[in-house]
Amino acid sequence: MCLDGLPVPRVLGRVGRKGGPVLVLFGAVHGNEPAGVRAIRRVMPELEARADRLRGEVVALAGNRGALAKGVRFVTRDLNRKWTFEGIERVRTSDPASLADEDLEQRAILEQLEPVLAHAHEPVTVLDLHTTSGSGAPFCCMSDTLRNLRIGLGLPVPLILGLEEVIDGTMLGYLSDVGHRGIAFEGGRHDDPVTVDHHEAAIWLVVARTGLLPPGEIPDLAGHRRRLEAACQGLPRVVEVRYRHVVHEGDGFEMRPGFRNFDPVRKGQVLAEDRTGEIRAPMSGRLLLPRYQGQGEDGFFLGRVVPRSVLRLSRSIRRLGLDDALGRLPTVRRDPLDPDRLVVPRAVARGPLVDLFHLCGYRRRVDQGEHVVYVRRRQDRLL
Ligand SMILES: [Zn+2]
Repeated sequence: MCLDGLPVPRVLGRVGRKGGPVLVLFGAVHGNEPAGVRAIRRVMPELEARADRLRGEVVALAGNRGALAKGVRFVTRDLNRKWTFEGIERVRTSDPASLADEDLEQRAILEQLEPVLAHAHEPVTVLDLHTTSGSGAPFCCMSDTLRNLRIGLGLPVPLILGLEEVIDGTMLGYLSDVGHRGIAFEGGRHDDPVTVDHHEAAIWLVVARTGLLPPGEIPDLAGHRRRLEAACQGLPRVVEVRYRHVVHEGDGFEMRPGFRNFDPVRKGQVLAEDRTGEIRAPMSGRLLLPRYQGQGEDGFFLGRVVPRSVLRLSRSIRRLGLDDALGRLPTVRRDPLDPDRLVVPRAVARGPLVDLFHLCGYRRRVDQGEHVVYVRRRQDRLL
């Protein structure tokens, strides 16, 4: 398969040496998002020219090659929604002849990714390059773990926390669960040439942040930083997801026109409509990822701006291990079989207690009858 007349192999490039930090770049995990592959093609020769000075290794992989060839997000199933432990085990152990489309893509990715993860001496950083159907400023998303924050906060773009926790089976959620770092970078509109510049800038900034190259070795590092800063002027630094509107097939979901990512919205404001009528914002906050076209089950998300002071507090609490005390609060019980799960009666699962859970990285909410379980990513307790 080809893009811009050049072949797109699974391994787009590999440069550096073993024993240091490892960065894995992904382009086109969604097949209608080729900008990441284009940015990787720009960066890899520059890295190769500096190979002797690289302190570790950079591996660049193509995501959904079948969908990329067809110019669609996915062929049968979203490749970025099938990274559950069970799903991975099934794909890994099945006869390849019995697999098709995204199952085969995932298997081929695992064949490249697993040895990289297994042989790394420290957590691997995965930078997954995406684009959006509508135009908008670049931003990044990641699971709320200390390891991720350390890298993600190095990018001068808005950071959406907790998206990975409300969506099942994302690749980066899985990577966070197994102790690595995963950052999704959304560069802008699918077909906007500037999007490739944003992706390129993100790659270089992460190369610097992971210590793969000294900043002085990176071509135009300050320019890359300025480019992203300029594209994100006036936008909040960190927003946490508090609500997800799920779209089911046949809903007839349609966003009201004119919304952009990060727009402030008021509680009760009409945001979209479907067969049941108007869809109003259940809370005030920031509108995230309004869906104007394409496949997928996420209509929109609502988020809340996280002030810097709160973010600093959150990191300190976790670094010091103070979050261990959550299980000793009245009404809160830590699951004896899984220290990453806090169980509370439904009646108290709101307000400041939920804010406190979020502060400590317990973002995924699972309703279980009379109780609610708040779950953090595995391994967040490991620094
Ligand atoms: Zn995408």
